[in-house]
Amino acid sequence: MSNQQTFVIVGASLAGAKAAETLRNEGFGGRVVLVGAENDRPYERPPLSKDYLRGEADRDTIYVHEAGFYAEQDIELRLGRTAVELDTSAQEVALDDGERLRYDRLLLATGAEPRRLSSPGSDLSGIHYLRSVDDADSLRERLDQGGSAVVIGAGWIGAEVAASARQRGLDVTVVEPASVPLERVLGSEVGAIYRDVHSDHGVQLLLGTGVEAFEGDGSVERVRTTDGRTVDCDLVVVGVGVQPRTQLAEQGGLAIDNGILVDEHLQSGRPEIFAAGDVANAQHAFYGERVRVEHWDNAINQAPVAARSMLGQSAIHDHVPYFFSDQYDVGMEYSGYPRLWDRVVFRGDPATREFIAFWMQGDHVVAGMNVNVWDVSDPIRDIITQRVAVSDERLADSDVPLADLVAEKERTAS
Ligand SMILES: Cc1cc2nc3c(=O)[nH]c(=O)nc-3n(C[C@H](O)[C@H](O)[C@H](O)COP(=O)(O)OP(=O)(O)OC[C@H]3O[C@@H](n4cnc5c(N)ncnc54)[C@H](O)[C@@H]3O)c2cc1C
Repeated sequence: MSNQQTFVIVGASLAGAKAAETLRNEGFGGRVVLVGAENDRPYERPPLSKDYLRGEADRDTIYVHEAGFYAEQDIELRLGRTAVELDTSAQEVALDDGERLRYDRLLLATGAEPRRLSSPGSDLSGIHYLRSVDDADSLRERLDQGGSAVVIGAGWIGAEVAASARQRGLDVTVVEPASVPLERVLGSEVGAIYRDVHSDHGVQLLLGTGVEAFEGDGSVERVRTTDGRTVDCDLVVVGVGVQPRTQLAEQGGLAIDNGILVDEHLQSGRPEIFAAGDVANAQHAFYGERVRVEHWDNAINQAPVAARSMLGQSAIHDHVPYFFSDQYDVGMEYSGYPRLWDRVVFRGDPATREFIAFWMQGDHVVAGMNVNVWDVSDPIRDIITQRVAVSDERLADSDVPLADLVAEKERTAS
């Protein structure tokens, strides 16, 4: 790859920063320009709903790289700058300050942004969304004042914010249209475990209902729910999911469908343009279909694949989705991407909050979640990717090491 070439990365967050790092690690000697709309150098978002939000971690702990890394690696950082135009014929990206960057390869790592509510009263002050470190700072300041919080949405962000707000001593009410928290991913049986975790910590859960309106005089004072209840509050946090930031790609004429469509090399229909992270709806070599996920681990794993593909190497995206969540003293890791399952098998008693749950289809594990049990995500992933056939009894039996199930399959296969 010529040293005269310019690789531009739009999106200076986890995926963008890791891709830039990989380009240099792979020996790319050309120009690397990393453009980011935020003023901070790339940082990690998971702490923003956890220890950082609770004031237990400082800002300098969240960055992806040390401050000097980009200069040392000769990566040109353009922070506080938004790419506003993509001209695929000229192979140019225009920034909001008028600079035009010509690229030989372009990586779009523009991530995702929170879905906004449009219910009456949505523009009152005191209604928070959480995506950036600035959002976290303003919410953290508000939590410092105490009072009552209503969290709209019991997905991962909502559930973690509810936990952090309770840990900071606020009264917390969660409003969620589904019947249990986290139902979309975990299903009703495992979601009920998280419902109990939150109610044990004093969170009031209003399930099966949504927001009718926010009310207040200038700032939010109460939430009216669709089933006719009224909850007084001092602040609201909305966590109702995110949508991929595809505006730039759309404007450049790339194919979009729930994210930027890319193949298993993370390459778009334009051979010089790639996408990675939350914004990429990528063909997945293991699942044989397009998958878009919004996980920290996905950004970390897709970035090197995209960077190597940009360099013309044969890199494939086949990493099974993985994410983690911490709520109170309940830590978990989840691997898999099941469309369907027919039952859940538990290893350990969920009531103890130290267990593994396996989502099963027939005699195969399609997802696994370890809760307060550690160092098992590798064998769980291997059981999934090697399509190990296993009985419910053996899965549930803590005396059978998970690694043995994989080893047995490997022995019978050889
Ligand atoms: C509060 C919070 C907690 C989370 N906790 C977890 C967790 O516990 N576990 C987990 O697995 N995942 C978690 N996640 C998800 C994880 O952080 C994301 O999957 C990850 O940040 C995705 O990285 P990304 O680089 O693809 O996109 P993003 O982090 O969204 O970054 C995209 C960047 O691109 C910039 N950008 C967009 N458009 C332009 C443009 N036109 N020009 C210039 N710059 C642009 C944006 O400003 C942004 O900085 C959490 C997310 C949040 C918000």
